[in-house]
Amino acid sequence: MKYVDEFRDPKAVHALSKEIHRITRHPWTIMEVCGGQTHSIVRYGLDRLLPTAITLIHGPGCPVCVTPIELIDAACQLASLPDVIFCSFGDMLRVPGSRDDLLHVKAQGGDIRIIYSPLDAVEIAHTYPQRHIICFAVGFETTAPAQAMAVLQARRLHLSNFSLLVAHVLVPPAMEAILSSSENRVQGFLAAGHVCTVMGYDMYELICHRFQVPIVVTGFEPVDILEGVQLVVTQLEEGRYEVENQYSRSVQQSGNLEARKVVDEVFEPTSRNWRGIGEISRSGLQLRQSFAEFDALRIFEDRIQLSRSSNALESECQSGRILQGLMKPSACSAFGIRCTPEHPLGAPMVSSEGACAAYYRYRHHEVARG
Ligand code: SF4
Repeated sequence: MKYVDEFRDPKAVHALSKEIHRITRHPWTIMEVCGGQTHSIVRYGLDRLLPTAITLIHGPGCPVCVTPIELIDAACQLASLPDVIFCSFGDMLRVPGSRDDLLHVKAQGGDIRIIYSPLDAVEIAHTYPQRHIICFAVGFETTAPAQAMAVLQARRLHLSNFSLLVAHVLVPPAMEAILSSSENRVQGFLAAGHVCTVMGYDMYELICHRFQVPIVVTGFEPVDILEGVQLVVTQLEEGRYEVENQYSRSVQQSGNLEARKVVDEVFEPTSRNWRGIGEISRSGLQLRQSFAEFDALRIFEDRIQLSRSSNALESECQSGRILQGLMKPSACSAFGIRCTPEHPLGAPMVSSEGACAAYYRYRHHEVARG
């Protein structure tokens, strides 16, 4: 298949591995930002094709994993209301809140529907005018345009029974927070190709120059990832720090201008609490005042109780350290024992993009053998 087979070609993969071995002179630590890239690395064993001097660490790029407990709790309360139909991507249903998850609420009678696009939720709102439809707007910059389109479509259709529970997060502020941490080990980034397809990569220039780190916009297939690593290592070995675009078959410097325009029309930046990590300034999106009538938290503020921002309930789960690249999933004492995909203690074991789920799926047996 074009654009897939050629990027999974074993010969190309091994040639890139050989080239990375040839150019590597010093130890380097590189973070892949996106959970999709983490899954490719673990699935194809790409980290094992690199020189031992290169350490790949997994970043916070799993939006399901970083959605804060207080928003999961709000979602569970909203989904329990008898006049509400709560719409969500399937990944979110098993993410633990402080007491419940959405799957449990559904088992108790909550009307929760799994959707594949926010426009599905608009359609449901159109079909059920007597019910209020809430769409759980979770994701990075990649899914924000579709949520913005849903709001615009609801306004166009004069739907007064549609709203969003907004939990959107933004990648660049998280990268800055990681680089600003006293525990930071990251010397170069593989930036998430799909985020840059929407947003472009102008915004990475500031981060690159402020922190003097190479940032390479990278795709998701094995050849993409190894090319991204090769470009980062080349810069590091030459003492350069620039933004480069490995994923040019999808990403343009300014991104998708139409998508950026609708996001900017509907949303504005806000501070957001990241699960396990804490609050990061201007790292989330909220509805603009002109779209306040679509804000579920505002509409239902008298009928639910918002819990305070807290990560204390996850004392056993070390997701914050996993998401900042400070620890590998297999180093968590609960991994594969008290925490499995069937009985997850934390979101990184639930999500299809979570690092713990990737290790469980592809390396569980060797971890279990020690
Ligand atoms: S293995 Fe489970 S408990 Fe440990 S960090 Fe991952 S999600 Fe949390």
